Amino acid sequence: MQQEHFDVLVVGAGLSGVGAGYHLKTRCPGKTYAILEGREAIGGTWDLFRYPGIRSDSDMYTLGYSFRPWREAKAIADGPSILKYVRETARDYGVDAHIRFRHRVVAASWSSEDALWTVEVERGDETERVSFTAGFLFMCGGYYDYAEGHTPDFAGTDRFKGQIVHPQHWPERMDYAGKRVVVIGSGATAVTLVPAMAETAGHVTMLQRSPTYVVSRPAEDQFANRLRARLPAQLAYQIIRWRNVLGGMYFFNLARKKPAQVKAGIIDMVRGHMGPDYDVDTHFTPRYNPWDQRLCLVPDADLFDAIKAGKASVVTDEIDTFTEHGIRLKSGQELAADIIVTATGLKMQLLSGVAFDIDGAPVDLAKTMSYKGMMYSDVPNLASAFGYTNASWTLKCDLTCEYVCRLINFMDKRGYAAATPRKTDPTVAEVPWLDFTSGYVQRAIDKLPRQGSKRPWKLYQNYALDLITLRFGAVDDGTMEFKRRATKQRAA
Ligand SMILES: Cc1cc2nc3c(=O)[nH]c(=O)nc-3n(C[C@H](O)[C@H](O)[C@H](O)COP(=O)(O)OP(=O)(O)OC[C@H]3O[C@@H](n4cnc5c(N)ncnc54)[C@H](O)[C@@H]3O)c2cc1C
Repeated sequence: MQQEHFDVLVVGAGLSGVGAGYHLKTRCPGKTYAILEGREAIGGTWDLFRYPGIRSDSDMYTLGYSFRPWREAKAIADGPSILKYVRETARDYGVDAHIRFRHRVVAASWSSEDALWTVEVERGDETERVSFTAGFLFMCGGYYDYAEGHTPDFAGTDRFKGQIVHPQHWPERMDYAGKRVVVIGSGATAVTLVPAMAETAGHVTMLQRSPTYVVSRPAEDQFANRLRARLPAQLAYQIIRWRNVLGGMYFFNLARKKPAQVKAGIIDMVRGHMGPDYDVDTHFTPRYNPWDQRLCLVPDADLFDAIKAGKASVVTDEIDTFTEHGIRLKSGQELAADIIVTATGLKMQLLSGVAFDIDGAPVDLAKTMSYKGMMYSDVPNLASAFGYTNASWTLKCDLTCEYVCRLINFMDKRGYAAATPRKTDPTVAEVPWLDFTSGYVQRAIDKLPRQGSKRPWKLYQNYALDLITLRFGAVDDGTMEFKRRATKQRAA
């Protein structure tokens, strides 16, 4: 079997993998690395999802990389602009030359004797098996299953005579002009799809079991645009980024400390958009507190405008069964539809579904504890990029990349071959990895690692705190165990 060696192997060429490539190149210039990407394209999420209106729901000043200013007018950007940004970053920093496309990683084995990962890959359509070796493995494969999204078992789907589509597999040329569309769901995807499809569809109904918090923000950030016109790009970017980071942290903490007040503020805003006659209580007042799940952002109140214009509507009810011509609800109401979109979520999948073993013993991720939100107890030389749940993904991933580079450089300097987080402190209690009530998290919680009750095992979901600890905290912190290469190998 063919076997190439790299100092670092990155899995995935999305936002995180491309960022990892940049950081490795600039911070560890002496190291060889390759990025193994299962698909044929750079961009991950922003290349995969092609549904109408696809966009970010965080601002691009924080979803963008720390090292590359976002230069477009819209802060809430559309998918193609984000994809362009990721691709241009890969091209401009020479990261693209390191990517091996159509290389899907399926397994990785750690040998303690050799201090090496052997990574098994399926290449191309024929899924030809090749393998690589690497000193360090950096998983940047996102957080969900690329093969399929989550669709609950709805009764009667086979009876429906129209088209059923999941947003993760949007048909290339789908004509919905003038058609009656029902979008099942109330999350970020549903609130994006509804106003976008309503532009040309006959009518779009958002069918939700229960409401989500929906907050409107201007798509363009006027302050940011004025600042960008006056200051050097990187300086303006850093100022706006920090303003948004601190604003986000303030709002999140307020929501946690005074949930009733924040809830009332959000609902009042919705009432302001929808007017006094709309039933905000039924359709836009969730049963949970703000930030128990991610808030849904709509740019320039587009969802509210589509509803007010009569092009879209919201129905809050449960599905009894699909029928030949639409959906029958538990209340008895029937929704006629030509197209049903199941915006029912993602299947969460950590570490890209790769089967890991250490010296032949399989690693059960659910039995590990997450170290600094990126490594796993008793798993050597492996890190993963996982973003914040309460802020932009890239904020954490940038810091994770920085830390991984610090760790690799530290090991080099001291002649270490293996770094393994060890949970030796008996006073660290186990806590669920994510305290989010969202369906996609709850469906996967049993397969996820735990976090600890205190540092360095606790996830603070706080960029400012992480910046201090990951950028400046000691790498040799007493929890990370370092090992040199075995003598036999050193002699060789
Ligand atoms: C519709 C949508 C909108 C979103 N909007 C936001 C937002 O506004 N703000 C925010 O912070 N987050 C958002 N997210 C979360 C989003 O996924 C992240 O922001 C970010 O794009 C993730 O980047 P990533 O590179 O870590 O993962 P991904 O974008 O998922 O990329 C992972 C890459 O790894 C590859 N890969 C996976 N497994 C393997 C394997 N076994 N072998 C080889 N390659 C593999 C995939 O093919 C893919 O190219 C959104 C997610 C979705 C689905």
